[in-house]
Amino acid sequence: MKVRRGMKIWVNGIVQGVGFRPFVYAQATARGLTGWVRNTSSGVEIEVNGEPQALRSFVEALQSQSPPLARIDSLRVESRPHNGYVSFEIIASQPQPGEFIPISPDVTICVECQKELFDPHDRRYRYPFINCTHCGPRFTIIQDIPYDRPNTTMASFGMCRQCRAEYDDPADRRFHAQPIACPQCGPQVWFEVGGEKLAEGEEALQLARQHLRTGDILAVKGLGGYHLACDAINPEALARLRQRKQRSDKPFALMAFDLDTIVRHCMVSDEEAALLNARQRPVVLLERRPESSISSLVAPNQRTLGFMLPYTPLHLLLLQPESSFPETLVMTSGNLSEEPIAYQDGEARTRLAPLADGFLMHNRPIHMRVDDSVTRRVERQSYPLRRGRGYAPDPIRLPRQTPPLLAVGAELKNTFCLTRQHYAFLSHHIGDLENFETLQSFEQGIAHFERLFRIQPEMIAADLHPDYLATRYAHQRAEQQSLRLVQVQHHHAHLATCLADNGWDDEVEVIGVLYDGAGLGSDGAIWGGEFLLGGYAAYRRMAHLIYTPLPGGDVTVHKPARMALAHLQRAGIEWQDDLPPLQAFSAEQRQTLRAQLDHNINAPPTSSMGRLFDAASALLGIRAAINYEGQAAIELEALADPHEQAAYPFHISGRLIDPKPLWLALLKERRAGVPTATLSARFHNGVARMTAQVCEQIRQQTGNAIVALSGGVWQNMLLLTKTRALLQAGGFQVLIHRQVPANDGGIALGQTMIAAHTGRDSGQSNSV
Ligand code: ZN
Ligand code: ZN
Ligand code: FE
Repeated sequence: MKVRRGMKIWVNGIVQGVGFRPFVYAQATARGLTGWVRNTSSGVEIEVNGEPQALRSFVEALQSQSPPLARIDSLRVESRPHNGYVSFEIIASQPQPGEFIPISPDVTICVECQKELFDPHDRRYRYPFINCTHCGPRFTIIQDIPYDRPNTTMASFGMCRQCRAEYDDPADRRFHAQPIACPQCGPQVWFEVGGEKLAEGEEALQLARQHLRTGDILAVKGLGGYHLACDAINPEALARLRQRKQRSDKPFALMAFDLDTIVRHCMVSDEEAALLNARQRPVVLLERRPESSISSLVAPNQRTLGFMLPYTPLHLLLLQPESSFPETLVMTSGNLSEEPIAYQDGEARTRLAPLADGFLMHNRPIHMRVDDSVTRRVERQSYPLRRGRGYAPDPIRLPRQTPPLLAVGAELKNTFCLTRQHYAFLSHHIGDLENFETLQSFEQGIAHFERLFRIQPEMIAADLHPDYLATRYAHQRAEQQSLRLVQVQHHHAHLATCLADNGWDDEVEVIGVLYDGAGLGSDGAIWGGEFLLGGYAAYRRMAHLIYTPLPGGDVTVHKPARMALAHLQRAGIEWQDDLPPLQAFSAEQRQTLRAQLDHNINAPPTSSMGRLFDAASALLGIRAAINYEGQAAIELEALADPHEQAAYPFHISGRLIDPKPLWLALLKERRAGVPTATLSARFHNGVARMTAQVCEQIRQQTGNAIVALSGGVWQNMLLLTKTRALLQAGGFQVLIHRQVPANDGGIALGQTMIAAHTGRDSGQSNSV
C-alpha cells in the first residue's frame, strides 16, 4: 500500500509577481501531488500531499528550477498529515498583518511578449501594454501588498472574457499576471496637443512618430514617469530642448531600437551588451565612436554616450525602425532642470506644456515615479551611477540583521533606506533635495516604502549636516515619534556603504579612501579628500587633503575659477595674468576675492577632492564655471590622454597631503606648451599615485591592507582604474561599489549600518 504524507512549505524572497505560483502548480501536478499554494503578505505558502519520493523531488525542484525572476531567500519545510485535498489548487491570498515581502521592480518586456507584439495574427498585435507573468510593470503600479490586481493601478480596468480566461488558467503564460490587458479591456494611448486629443491608438502612435520625424519634442508617458523625446541627430531639435529644459550641458540619455544601432555609435564590449540587454534595461555609459552622427549637443565635451534599449512595448512601437524615422531618440526625464520627473497626467500637462510640442499619453496610472537607472561596466562588474527603475525596490541583502531603521541619506542625488531583518530597501533615486517638489517626493516615498514593506522604524539615521532638508526631516520625525536619532559623519557613511555593498561582515577595519565634493566633518570643516580607518562601529581620520579656503561656499562650487585661485593663494603661488582662471575676473573682483581669502571672510576650510579637480580644470582653461554638478572634473577627465604615464607629485607630511608641488609642476608644464591632454593625465596619475602612497603609509602604521573606494569622485573612470591598478600591484585588496552608487545616492545604506551598530552598544548617540 502506498504511503501518502503531507508537507507544509514556506518560501520567502521575490516570489510574487514572477510566475511562482503557476510554477509551483506545474511542479505539483507533474508529480501527482495534491494540496494548494497561496500568496501571503510574507511570501508563498504551500501544502502538498503525496508519496515521500515525489515530495522530496518537489522540494528540490522548487529550489533548483524556479522561474527566472524569482529569488528564494529562505525555504522552510515541515511535515504534516494529509490535508484531504484531492487536486492541486491555487487559492486566494492570505494577508498577515505586519508581515512583508520584497516587491519586484518593473520588468522589461520579455521575448515572448515581444514576438506577439509584432505578430499580425496575435490578438495583442501592436498593443502597447502587452505583458505576462514574466514581464511588465510592477513597482510603479503597486499601491499595497499583497501584489494582486486590486492593489495596483490596474484595479479600474475590468478584464474581458478572454483575458480573464488566461488569468485563471494555470497553464497559460498570463496566469495571475496582475497587469494583464488587451486592446479590448486594457489601457489605451492617445496623442494630444494643448490639452486637445488629436488621435487614439495606432493613429496616435503614428502621429507621435510624425512629430519626432520633423524634429519636434514630445512628452512621452512611460513606466515610471514622462520622458522628453526628440531626434538625437537633429541639432536644431536638441538646441531647442536644451533651451526649454534650461539644461545647458548636462548629458541626455538616448534610446535605440536595438543593439546593432547602438554599436554603430558606441564601442560596446560583450559585458556592456549584456548590461544593455539585462532585464533592468539601465542607461549604460559607453565610449562614443568618433564617427557617430549623434549630435554633440547630446553630451557636450564628453567621450561617452548614455544608451538604453526599449523596455516597454510602447517604446518598441515608438522606435520601430523605418528609413525616414530617427534611429536614436533622446529620452530624457520629463522635467525642468532639477525638478522631479513628471508622472501624473495633470501635472505633466501643466509642467511640461512649455517644454513639449505634443504629448503621447496613456491611461494606466503610475503610482510611484521612478527615473531610469544609469550604470557602466568596470571590467566584468557593473558600477551603478544612479539606481532607479528596474533595480528599486529590490532589497540589498545585508551582511547582518538590523532592527527596523530609516536612514534619510544626504542632500544631492538623495535616496533613503529602510531596513528590516537582513534586508535594506534602498529607495530609487529621489533627486537633489533642494526644492519643495523633491522634498515632497522624498516624504511620500518614505511613507510608501514603510507601508509597502511594513516597517516602523525604531531609529533614524541622518547626516551630521544640520541644514540638509533630509536631516531636518529626521529631526522632526524623531521628535514627533520619540525615536532615537543617530547622526552619521558623511564620509564614515560612504565607507560603511562600500563595505555593505560588498557584503562585508567583519569587525576588521579597512582603509577608506573617500573622495567627494563635500561632507561636514566632525571638526566643522568641509571634508572630501579623506583617508579613514574604520568599519561600521567607528573610524579614525588617518590623513586628508590640506585645508584650503572655500570662498563664499556654494558660489565657489559653481565657479571652479574661484577654487583655482583659492588653491594658488593657499600654496603661496602668485596669480599671474596668463592663468586661465584669472580671465573670469575683473581687477576689482580679484581684489575682493584676495581680501576674502586673506582675511578668511566667509571662507570655510575644505579638504575636498572634488574641489581639487575643479581647480585643476579651471587652471587648464577647461571650465571657469559649471552648469551641472561635477562638470569641471568630467570634462577634465574626458580630455586626458589615457596612455600617459607620468604623474605630478604631492607633498605628504604626516596626516596632511599638500598639492603645492602638483600645482607648480602643472603650471610650469602648461607654460612650456605641454598639451592639455597630457597635463590632465599627469594630474589624474598624480592623484592615483598619492592615493597609493598614503595607503602604503597607513598599512605600515597599522598593518591594514584592505582599501574601500567610495565617494562621488570615484565615478571618474580614469582615476578609478589607475588607482585600483596601483593598489592591487601593491598587494592591497580593493573594494569598489557594485550594487549602489559611489556618490551620495548610496550613502543611506551606510547610514543604516552605522546606526544599527550604534543601536547595539547604547550610550553613544553620535558617530562623529
Ligand atoms: Zn512577457
Ligand atoms: Zn482583455
Ligand atoms: Fe558624498
